[in-house]
Amino acid sequence: MARLIFLGPPGAGKGTQAQLLAHLLNIPQVSTGEILRDAVSQSTHLGLKAQSYMDRGELVPDQLILEIIRERLNQPDAKAGWILDGFPRNVAQANFLDQLLEDMGQSYDNAVYLEVPDEVLVTRLLARGRKDDAEDVIRRRLAVYREQTEPLIVFYRGRHQLATIDGNQSPDEVAADLKKLVHL
Ligand code: AMP
Repeated sequence: MARLIFLGPPGAGKGTQAQLLAHLLNIPQVSTGEILRDAVSQSTHLGLKAQSYMDRGELVPDQLILEIIRERLNQPDAKAGWILDGFPRNVAQANFLDQLLEDMGQSYDNAVYLEVPDEVLVTRLLARGRKDDAEDVIRRRLAVYREQTEPLIVFYRGRHQLATIDGNQSPDEVAADLKKLVHL
């Protein structure tokens, strides 16, 4: 059983590493970004509401995200554990998660911070070529990360539940560090 929160700036490798580790642990990777992109591509009610925020590199309003998470963590496959990738993204979402887990009688093991220097991030993101990876949107996403998401590092460190991993290594090296962290 593992319940992990992946933290880190856009381009840190959260998605890639969360997917790998979730697969190894046989638990779901819960990526709010993926769920939102699916909703946008299917033009659902959620997708229509979320799209303009995503295109600008802004956070989608908490109200929309919190319902997604509540529903997802209540799915049967999430009983075995989960890796949260891209949530929480601000302190309000982190507080919501605490309350939700308390209501569900669960807790998380660690917040895992993938640390990568700024100059590496922009290069990586430009190479990725996703729709929201145009340079101006990248810069906005990094700014939003600094303002709203980075405070979560202090939030989880203060609880002694932050594990920092050097994300400025090859994907294999990062994966090896993560495996060690979960004793695989
Ligand atoms: P990501 O795939 O995690 O980089 O997310 C892509 C985009 O989806 C972000 O730039 C936000 O617009 C939106 N998004 C993903 N997760 C969240 C979240 N937890 N809260 C608000 N917006 C989110």
